[in-house]
Amino acid sequence: MTGRTTGAVVIGLDLGGTKIAAALFAPDGAVLARHTRATPAREGSAAVLDALAAAAAEVDPDGLASLIGIAAAGVVDPRSGMVTSATDSIRGWAGTALGAGLADRTGLPVACDNDVRATAGPELTALADSRGSLLYAAVGTGVGGALAVDGRMLHGAAGIAGHLGHLPSPEAAGLPCTCGATGHLEVIASGPGITAHYARLTGTRPDRLETVAARAAEGEQAAVRAITTGATAAGRVLGGLANALGPDRVVVGGGVPRIGALYRDALATAFAAELMPPLRGLHPEPPLHGGDAAVRGAAALPATLPLHRPGAHR
Ligand SMILES: [Zn+2]
Repeated sequence: MTGRTTGAVVIGLDLGGTKIAAALFAPDGAVLARHTRATPAREGSAAVLDALAAAAAEVDPDGLASLIGIAAAGVVDPRSGMVTSATDSIRGWAGTALGAGLADRTGLPVACDNDVRATAGPELTALADSRGSLLYAAVGTGVGGALAVDGRMLHGAAGIAGHLGHLPSPEAAGLPCTCGATGHLEVIASGPGITAHYARLTGTRPDRLETVAARAAEGEQAAVRAITTGATAAGRVLGGLANALGPDRVVVGGGVPRIGALYRDALATAFAAELMPPLRGLHPEPPLHGGDAAVRGAAALPATLPLHRPGAHR
């Protein structure tokens, strides 16, 4: 385990649009139990909270845990414990009292945050300097992120800080974004954004991003262009953000960078081209942690965030 801990046994929960992952962590960070179940995404927020509580009970049948940390999809405000905004990947998720609802169902204090910030938390505590700064991007189905300055994760008004996918991008000019605006990074740099760009270039829509990556590997120019355009857009935005924030480390995670060196190299080149002289030598890096990064980050949340207690909201 890295950095700050609570000294307690903690349940970490990771809520996504398709599955819930749960793990029970010992005070030293060892995983004592794991469980995964489907998210009842079409059944409404009460059913999702029930499923989260059931997953917590599944990994801790003997009641060893004294705290819960949850990393959840959507815009989450850790102070109010509310989901302040969300897409319809989970029906009725926006407006859910996540912290209070889960505390009431489990009888345990709950700390909550959005999944990307929770995943970035251990990356921040792993910095050599406890007052270090971090720029973290997650490029997948969407483009999310987390910003930490001088050792503190930024949450911002309504928990919105870190939504890097909704920065303006010249590569996305004129294209409508999921948020209702136009020309945002997510439209051109996310996995669906890259496949949609390929479809605009060729008139044929591939089933998935990996198909575009395979065609690029065979040398198909439209595929190469769709991938490098998305990567360049992401690198440009991240480079500009690095100038604004002064990060000690820049991490680019999520599924899209894993499609290959073509993407990663184009991103790194565009990133480097934006940097002011004091930041030269800064390079985007892959995440430290693998598949269980979100649930591990979730379990670390109670060490730094407000706790929502059973019955407290009534
Ligand atoms: Zn947007």
